[in-house]
Amino acid sequence: QLILHLQNVTKQFAENTFPAVDNVSLTLQQGDILGLLGPSGCGKTTLLRLIAGFERLQTGEIKIGERIVSNTSTCIPTEQRDIGIVFQDYALFPHLNVAENVGFGLKDFPKHQIQKRVAEVLGLVRLGGLEKRYPYELSGGQQQRVALARALAPQPQLMLLDEPLSNLDIQVRLRLREEVRDILKAAGTSAIFVTHDQEEALAISDIVGVMRQGHLEQLGTPEEIYTHPASRFVAEFVTQANFVTAHRQDNLWKTEIGNFELTANHSENAGEIMIRQEDFILKPDNDAPVVVRTRRFLGREYQYCLQTPSGKELHARTLADVALPVGTRVELSIASDRIKVFPH
Ligand code: ADP
Ligand code: MG
Repeated sequence: QLILHLQNVTKQFAENTFPAVDNVSLTLQQGDILGLLGPSGCGKTTLLRLIAGFERLQTGEIKIGERIVSNTSTCIPTEQRDIGIVFQDYALFPHLNVAENVGFGLKDFPKHQIQKRVAEVLGLVRLGGLEKRYPYELSGGQQQRVALARALAPQPQLMLLDEPLSNLDIQVRLRLREEVRDILKAAGTSAIFVTHDQEEALAISDIVGVMRQGHLEQLGTPEEIYTHPASRFVAEFVTQANFVTAHRQDNLWKTEIGNFELTANHSENAGEIMIRQEDFILKPDNDAPVVVRTRRFLGREYQYCLQTPSGKELHARTLADVALPVGTRVELSIASDRIKVFPH
């Protein structure tokens, strides 16, 4: 069952030469979490604000459930859209305690039901017992859970979360990202989770949408996005992969770091080979063209910066049981099924 349907949605602010959101179409299934991922300025917040009804679109249509909420002539007010919203900066009411903040959207409910629902949803975000605290008496992570509880309390069809973890320090962020997923799943709510952090998007989402300059570049499961990036941009942004220029000769891709076997049929004769950092196999060889420039210990892995004959830098990660000293010449190989080629 579709919970959200965007068709050819475009939004251009008057003062800009490019649309902030450019002809975006997507659908979201009931209960799914869509991670909207892209660099700063690519239009994520604007897309969320269009869905929330804070902005009007210029072309296209937005449906929540069966209902058209935005098109070129209609823009149903936010409070009638059956959505819950969580912002980056928590936006709690400072003069209301936790229970009052969470109950804020339940004003139309009978009093005993408000209490019951507030207790229920505070249990869900594991803040039971903190009902009487004020926002300034809470940590950042707790404040964001209150904001999540407040948005969930009226049981909206769709939750919109705009970089909700970005203001938290790394420890809290990592823990809360697991919890947010669990909480949304337990509530059974569909959600759009905006982030510029690729790891966060992969970890939290059922479906990831990668945005670039207002466009939706790719929509797919985290595994699809990671293993089959649709463009060089997606590959670079999501996996921080390396790219090496290659030209084809018979059944080989020839590059300055070696020759790689062609697996699929390619019509192009030249392109950029994508190699993920973890896919390099490094073997010391005094005659090899590539040299280890730096090595960083990351605990489980080493990260190497390698230099090619033309001076290009490549990044590789290997398990920490093999340590190659700086200055070592290495032969690089890659399992042929891990290689992907993009046209120039
Ligand atoms: P993101 O959330 O991905 O960082 P935004 O949606 O905030 O991106 O912005 C997308 C583009 O739209 C940017 O170029 C930004 O400068 C522009 N933009 C966003 N909001 C406004 C606005 N209210 N007026 C004019 N331009 C805006
Ligand atoms: Mg934003």
